[in-house]
Amino acid sequence: MSAAPVGDCLACRANRGELTAPGGVIYDDGRWRVEHQLAPAVLPGWLILKLLRHVTSLAELTVAEAAALGPLLARLTAALEAETGAERVYSVLLAEAVTHVHFHLIPRRATIPAEQRGPAIFALPAGAPEVACAAIAARIADRLRAHHDLPA
Ligand SMILES: [Zn+2]
Repeated sequence: MSAAPVGDCLACRANRGELTAPGGVIYDDGRWRVEHQLAPAVLPGWLILKLLRHVTSLAELTVAEAAALGPLLARLTAALEAETGAERVYSVLLAEAVTHVHFHLIPRRATIPAEQRGPAIFALPAGAPEVACAAIAARIADRLRAHHDLPA
C-alpha cells in the first residue's frame, strides 16, 4: 500500500533506470510510463504501462493519474493496432508476480493459434528477437510523439 519505491520491485527498478527495456522509455508523462516488456520478451510489441509511483491497487490512484489512464490506454491500443496489425490488443492488469500497478498491452496477431489466445497468451515462451522489440518500441514512441490523436 506504500507509494514509496520498493527496492526489489521489478517495476520500480525499471522506473529507476536499473533495468532497460528494448527501445528504452516509450512514453512518460510524469505519472505513467510505457516501456516494452523486458527481454526476453514474449512478443514484439508487448508493452508495459505502469505507474511511476509504487502502488498496488487502482483504488490508490490520484484523480489525475486516473484521468490520464483512459486516454493513454486508448492511444496505446491505437498505436499497437497501427504498428503491429494485431487483430486484438489485450489490456490486462494482474499485478500478481509484480504487485506494482502495471498493465500488459499485448498485440494479439492473427498468427496466434486459437488455443493460445486470451489468458493462455501468458503461457507463451519468451524469446522474441530483441531487435524486433526495440524497433516496434521506437515506432510506437514516434507515433505517440506525433500526436496521432484519438477520434473526436
Ligand atoms: Zn514498484
